[in-house]
Amino acid sequence: MLGRMGKNGTPLVSFCQCLNESVMKIVAIATCYFPLGIVFLIAGKILEMDDPTAIGKKLGFYAITVVCGLVVHGLFVLPMVYLFITKKNPIVYIRGILQALLIALATSSSSATLPITFKCLLENNHIDRRIARFVLPVGATINMDGTALYEAVAAIFIAQVNNYELDFGQIITVSITATAASIGAAGIPQAGLVTMVIVLTSVGLPTDDITLIIAVDWALDRFRTMINVLGDALAAGIMAHICRKNFTQENDEAV
Ligand code: ASP
Repeated sequence: MLGRMGKNGTPLVSFCQCLNESVMKIVAIATCYFPLGIVFLIAGKILEMDDPTAIGKKLGFYAITVVCGLVVHGLFVLPMVYLFITKKNPIVYIRGILQALLIALATSSSSATLPITFKCLLENNHIDRRIARFVLPVGATINMDGTALYEAVAAIFIAQVNNYELDFGQIITVSITATAASIGAAGIPQAGLVTMVIVLTSVGLPTDDITLIIAVDWALDRFRTMINVLGDALAAGIMAHICRKNFTQENDEAV
């Protein structure tokens, strides 16, 4: 509406732009303090622990569990779904998006990887442009398999550290809220860590224990982003297969 109002809308547009820029500047300053802040957060947690070595060991097992889960999901579950629906070789398809997966590993952001995923799908996997244009942005925003998996494991880890026994109902709650929280997470680095709060509060776990997993999150974030991007790319491949008849028909009609 502001755009349509022309000159009359300009002051409010300028106000919003100015507000946006100032918020971005505040965030940039806060980001500079992040490393220092995280050191103190972790140091505080370590001082509170009775036995830091035991927690360190647990954190290692937690990281290994997340990575194993991601490997199983990325190398078996997702390719199997693709193979089952499209009857095509998932290895060939995944080879086409390797560049996007590497960028995801390097940037920890599905949104930043989006242009490369798009390029890989169009040039290497020959997916219809219209499908890629629709599926990839939606996928980068809401489809985050890796994040959902990590959030569920992290919540269970925090429960175990606190000697809190989760019953079957609570585990189901964790699964559902982890999925919902992953949908809400933005495609930017460590967004999953923020939405973890939703999962923890849903089963009454202390939210300040998120600081426990911050130490390894920068590494886990890279792997889960790779799985998020892989999921989006395979979803585009599956959609292209399902809609292939409609699109061929449309192309024929256009000719
Ligand atoms: N970094 C992830 C992504 O961009 C989101 C997250 O799990 O933090 O897909």
